[in-house]
Amino acid sequence: MRKVTFGKPIIGDEERNAVQKVLEGTLLVHGPIAKQFEADFASYTGSEACVSVSSCTAGLHLCYFDMGLGAGDEVIVPAQTHVATAHAVELCGAKPVFVDAEIKSGNIDISKIEERITPRTKAISVVHFLGLPVAMDKVCAIAEKHGLKVIEDCALAIGGRYKGKHVGLWGDAGAYSFYPVKHITTAEGGVVITKHEDLAARLVHKKAFGVDRNVTERKEPGIYDVTDLGFNYRMNEMQAAIGIEQMKRIDGFLEKRKANYDTLYAGLENIDGVTLFEKPGADFENSHYCLSIILDEKMRADRSKLVKAINDKGVGTSVYYPSPVPYFTYYKEKYPVTGDEYPVASAISYGSIALPVGPHLGAEDMEYVAEMVKKSVGEVF
Ligand SMILES: *Cc1c(COP(=O)(O)O)cnc(C)c1O
Repeated sequence: MRKVTFGKPIIGDEERNAVQKVLEGTLLVHGPIAKQFEADFASYTGSEACVSVSSCTAGLHLCYFDMGLGAGDEVIVPAQTHVATAHAVELCGAKPVFVDAEIKSGNIDISKIEERITPRTKAISVVHFLGLPVAMDKVCAIAEKHGLKVIEDCALAIGGRYKGKHVGLWGDAGAYSFYPVKHITTAEGGVVITKHEDLAARLVHKKAFGVDRNVTERKEPGIYDVTDLGFNYRMNEMQAAIGIEQMKRIDGFLEKRKANYDTLYAGLENIDGVTLFEKPGADFENSHYCLSIILDEKMRADRSKLVKAINDKGVGTSVYYPSPVPYFTYYKEKYPVTGDEYPVASAISYGSIALPVGPHLGAEDMEYVAEMVKKSVGEVF
């Protein structure tokens, strides 16, 4: 039986040798490798500034922390996203105010943002769901009208562009993740890109305790001052060394993802009870994290049966995401929800199955996946 795993980091001799070289040197943190990785990422995205961090979550938190977000403040957060998008707001003591998704893409329903804005709102956050860019000009226009910041969760969207501009550069800042199942990996790690160089300078400072100069900048060893509150959210040199090698592979990765996605999409059209997200217009350059199928409402209760039938045929699956964020216990207990406030996010969370399109796979795998999904739907329903 063919084995099609959902995600698999692609690590070669280049990455292994790069890590080995760091280990043979003296600088494990604060060195030139992280700076090089930042420069490479900035150049790839066309960003003025890039700050490496320990994770996407750390990057998002750092952005809100720098804004001075705190108790009594609110941030618009998509209901259909990774919990980190909301946690970053919570960590500052502020309140995430959730907005439902749109069914054609899973992205935030922009038409519902304004009705959730209050005098306490400080920012709008978006997630480029499964790599498909949000129509950022519309989001930025709303933000400008109300004097709000815009923070982009780009964890699944490297290579994603809207109207030719890379995601993360439309808003005030965009945070990326290099967790193993994402497009590229540094094991754990992330970056924040931003068009504001002053913001980047503050993030560099606050990701390292708010110390006024880093180890290599100290005139007298051990002597420094602390001018701000800050974290330890740094990326180390080994992570950055892997990242540099991964960035050399990114174009090939994205090409393969697109080809796989298109093949799988064609194979999954016209299955009874199964819908796919709409193919977006030319303004949207998808980075193709995965391809989710959405089951009709009457089939949702049996999703796990279908998942099992697909997995039994050697095809790995996942779910993005298992619950709308406001329905996770932590959020539900803190901010009680009445009724069915997030019907689209619910349809995606409870009725979708994510299928693999990663660069470890090829056209034959995609044909196999489509065939096995079709077969499994026939078996279960
Ligand atoms: C994976 C992911 C995160 C978390 O990234 P970390 O680097 O693990 O902190 C945040 N948002 C989205 C949309 C993600 O998919």
